[in-house]
Amino acid sequence: MGSGKSGKKQAGAAVVDTGAVDTVSAGWEYAPAPESRDIVTIAPEYGLFINGEFRPPAAGGTFATINPATGESLATVAEAGPADVAAAVSAARAAYENVWGPMPGSERAKYLYRIARVLQERSREFAVLESLDNGKPIRESRDVDIPLAAAHFFYYAGWADKLDHAGFGPAPRPLGVAAQVIPWNFPLLMAAWKLAPALAAGNTCVLKPAETTPLTALLLADVCQQVGLPPGVVSVLTGAGDTGAALVTHPDVDKIAFTGSTEVGKQIAASAAGTPKKLTLELGGKAANIVFDDAPVEQAIEGIVNGIFFNQGHVCCAGSRLLVQESVADAVVDRLKRRLATLRLGDPLDKNTDVGAINSRQQLDKITELTAAGEAEGAERWSPPCRLPEAGFWFPPTVFTGVSQSHRIAREEIFGPVLSVLTFRTPDEAVAKANNTPYGLSAGIWTDKGSRILWMAQRMRAGVVWANTYNRFDPASPFGGYKESGYGREGGRHGLAAYLDV
Ligand code: NDP
Repeated sequence: MGSGKSGKKQAGAAVVDTGAVDTVSAGWEYAPAPESRDIVTIAPEYGLFINGEFRPPAAGGTFATINPATGESLATVAEAGPADVAAAVSAARAAYENVWGPMPGSERAKYLYRIARVLQERSREFAVLESLDNGKPIRESRDVDIPLAAAHFFYYAGWADKLDHAGFGPAPRPLGVAAQVIPWNFPLLMAAWKLAPALAAGNTCVLKPAETTPLTALLLADVCQQVGLPPGVVSVLTGAGDTGAALVTHPDVDKIAFTGSTEVGKQIAASAAGTPKKLTLELGGKAANIVFDDAPVEQAIEGIVNGIFFNQGHVCCAGSRLLVQESVADAVVDRLKRRLATLRLGDPLDKNTDVGAINSRQQLDKITELTAAGEAEGAERWSPPCRLPEAGFWFPPTVFTGVSQSHRIAREEIFGPVLSVLTFRTPDEAVAKANNTPYGLSAGIWTDKGSRILWMAQRMRAGVVWANTYNRFDPASPFGGYKESGYGREGGRHGLAAYLDV
């Protein structure tokens, strides 16, 4: 049943009507439960955070950041140019040499603990701002992004005075100035993943948030001021790809940490080749979420939903390929469709919302193009009944069945709420299909047998393998990829190694 046959998309308020049970017309309606946005004050304009203070960009460039759920402009943000990059790197170098580098780890730890505590204290403010700027449901920003960001600062604060005992030899040295470029899917969390281990290890940082989601990074800069972090230890340069490129190619940068697309990751790797800069790359993924016939079905259904519809599928480790054992495939897909019909899509600030807005027009276009290719290549498309809001960027949860390994929707990262379903008969076939991807970031295994989990996990070319769960993150657990998913690890003791001269 493809949308070409049974679904219809209308101009304006797109309505995808697939004939499945409509929970709204069946009498199940949730009253609106919006989180108040009054908790956060958004300034009309933001400058760059350099050397401990906000200042206008040297060349005066600005751009708007919008709420993807409505299209409204939230604020005007400064665009950092080469002169601003030079000023931030120079401030970071001075802070590294004079303050942060020589500071005992036990003192650095105090700042990290303070940042963690303030993130907790101001968590509601951060959660609302993140949902406004990114489009993700408040339930996720409130319960996942912000608590995990605080947890990363707590975790690495604990390492700051124990680096001598971390297994890297006595007195491991920091690298120096770290240039950190992050994407838009988990704006604050990615900032925490980058900043916390770098600062704990004694480096200073210049952070470049994504163009479409700069606001929580700027609020984090405000937190840096609030906790009295010495000037230059963290700078935040807002801007687009050119700002990122100017930052990572600056000659006085010692370390580059990048999360984003494989394409840009390759460009950065090429630019760093032949220089002494250390580089870690966390890039795309096309993970297999593998369901065996003995899996606990209800749990697996929740894991499949969490695997691909969490954060609208804007997740590098999303379980975007469902590999389900052939004998249970029809039953699993049927149950999955029933479950998807209960997901609520809409206002990201509503506490009942499961699926929020797509982050940008550009990303919506990419998802639309790839799903059209899925249909054109012969896969069957299905979405639950789902009324998309008029304004902003939206895409309904979508499932493709009848997918073959050569289809683009089975090979390319869609980075949206789109699941491609494939089947397998034997564990060997599951392994072969799961590993048949240029990526190698994550995988999920659903089975009742512990021995099969271990057998499968040993054979997966994936940095993270979840067993009977999916998309679980912990600061103590390393995360990173193989092949075109990049190299280096973030999180845990491994995450420290990326910022030490070891
Ligand atoms: P990008 O890789 O372009 O963006 C990631 C970050 O890099 C952003 O801060 C971006 O800035 C910056 N950047 C862009 N070009 C350069 C450059 N030449 N040098 C240095 N920094 C640069 O991802 P997109 O936002 O364009 O998303 C495109 C696709 O990438 C998505 O559809 C998805 O498939 C994948 N992606 C994967 C992510 C992951 O976590 N693995 C995260 C995000 C995207 P700016 O935003 O201002 O352009």
